[in-house]
Amino acid sequence: MTKPIVELTDAQSLRYARHIMLPSMDFEGQEKLLASHALVVGAGGLGCAVIPYLVASGVGTITIVDNDIIERSNLQRQILYREADLGALKASTAIKAVQHMNSDCQLQAITERITDDNIGRLFAADTQPKIDVIVDCTDNVNIRLCLNRYCFSTATPLVSGAAIRMEGQVAVYPMNRKTLHQKAMPCYRCFSHYFGEQQLTCMEAGVLSPLVGVVGTLQAVETLKVLTGIGTTLQGKVLLYDAAHATFHTMQLPKLTSCPVCALA
Ligand SMILES: [Zn+2]
Repeated sequence: MTKPIVELTDAQSLRYARHIMLPSMDFEGQEKLLASHALVVGAGGLGCAVIPYLVASGVGTITIVDNDIIERSNLQRQILYREADLGALKASTAIKAVQHMNSDCQLQAITERITDDNIGRLFAADTQPKIDVIVDCTDNVNIRLCLNRYCFSTATPLVSGAAIRMEGQVAVYPMNRKTLHQKAMPCYRCFSHYFGEQQLTCMEAGVLSPLVGVVGTLQAVETLKVLTGIGTTLQGKVLLYDAAHATFHTMQLPKLTSCPVCALA
């Protein structure tokens, strides 16, 4: 990371004391978080769990990408929204909900729908601080694949999460070409080839309310690890959570040798 790291003020040292006490985090890790830019795509159930934890943790810049409006059926699990918010844009309402949590955190919204044609312009490095990580909180396969292509082409780490019915999953794709090839790691496109693209959405299949909180907070944990380098991320693996039977499983993800995105000679 080449961003200028600013030393913590006394107030910040106090505010983030419980982070700084973690030996692997220390002052340096917290300073990295404050200099970081996380882009969260989707302010639905997963995003509503990811966003407040990134804000409270002191991630310096957070961009929230969502073009949907809040509907009554969202209130069962999208816990940043109130009944009075019905009909409002999710991205700007999510910002309104968390903006007074942490003045260290700059929040911005993108309310256009992402496509292959506009993603480069919307996420352009010259219009905002360089993006250090993208957190995929969508439930749309086309947007997931679009994000995967963008992350691979720009070497931006991708933290992916999904929740449906009573099943959740989290995975991290480092997207550094050297790492992907040397360690034979997959991208999201490899994963979707092996495991099938989840075409159903929560609207069609249903979802247990706090399941999105479990998966979203796991994504927030992985995001902080990606940004600071602490611990070992879920890179190259998928964590599966079966809420019905209260079990977690982690499995290695195979790389697709003929992947149209990440398989280079
Ligand atoms: Zn791939």
